[in-house]
Amino acid sequence: MKAPTAKGQRTHKNTFQAAGTPAAYFSFILHSYAIIGRRIGNKYVCRRHSLSVDIPKDHPRRDSLIVRERLAEFVKKGLMTPTGLIAHGRGEAFDYLMGERTTAAALNAERVAAAYLMNAKRPVICVNGNAAALNAKRLIELAEATGSKIEVNIFHRTEERMKLLIDYMKECGAPNVLGGDPDARIPGLSSDRALCTSEGIFASDVILVPIEDGDRAEALVRMKKTVIAIDLNPLSRTSRMATVSINDEMSRALANMIGFAKGPSNKEKRNDIISQFSNEENIRASVNEIRKYLLDAVSGEKNERS
Ligand code: ATP
Repeated sequence: MKAPTAKGQRTHKNTFQAAGTPAAYFSFILHSYAIIGRRIGNKYVCRRHSLSVDIPKDHPRRDSLIVRERLAEFVKKGLMTPTGLIAHGRGEAFDYLMGERTTAAALNAERVAAAYLMNAKRPVICVNGNAAALNAKRLIELAEATGSKIEVNIFHRTEERMKLLIDYMKECGAPNVLGGDPDARIPGLSSDRALCTSEGIFASDVILVPIEDGDRAEALVRMKKTVIAIDLNPLSRTSRMATVSINDEMSRALANMIGFAKGPSNKEKRNDIISQFSNEENIRASVNEIRKYLLDAVSGEKNERS
């Protein structure tokens, strides 16, 4: 069997040249293992990546450090851009200010968001590099629970990155991922972020945008879509633009939304939940919870962690 060439191109030329002989059989087994090995070694299996640094099990910020390492791996592999790490840092800062837990206001928004997705005719979950890296599985589970389509849409768009992300989402179990062949544009956006598909984002009535930037959130609202944002920053333009702003960490938010979507409910109940919600009031509640958490922390009181 010939080893992979320098460019990673395998050659099958010699593999079967003595077909039928024990040597050929042995060679075939070795070749198959090589292919499997390459696949496991090079592809983005949908589980925690092995980390290049050792983080002690008892480190108080172990989970946060693991996520950082994971995102750094995704940057190395080309699925995320370095600026995605900066966006993550901003998110972490707000999470810190909230006590790294789901606030009551966030839970309220998550309930409303699940109701919107469940009652939608054409719900879409939008995925970028950060979202895929943080928790592809939960994005897919929420899509399944709510009958939503998944579309990849990224700011720093290259065909290569789009393909990497779409393939990754499929490897993680998404049966169909839109975005690779855009045939429509979001009006009012000059960047490549405007590129979308007519069957997905363009036609959607309800759209979930985790870790979004304000320009696109605004453009989607102008298209009269119900925009659900997951953004730890209650003051971001995205949060202030969206119909429902979930000021919570994405993975936690998705877990809660999946729970609500799978829980007992019906269309009327969900409409009630939606009609009682005010996004502005809820953002105020988020800010108040941050304020209270910080003041309690300063005065040394124990903060209750839900
Ligand atoms: P805007 O344009 O809406 O004002 P921005 O300029 O802060 O927002 P980005 O730089 O694209 O937008 O950052 C994306 C947002 O995602 C940040 O506000 C950050 O708080 C948030 N964010 C980052 N990581 C997470 C996460 N894991 N879960 C939820 N939100 C996150």
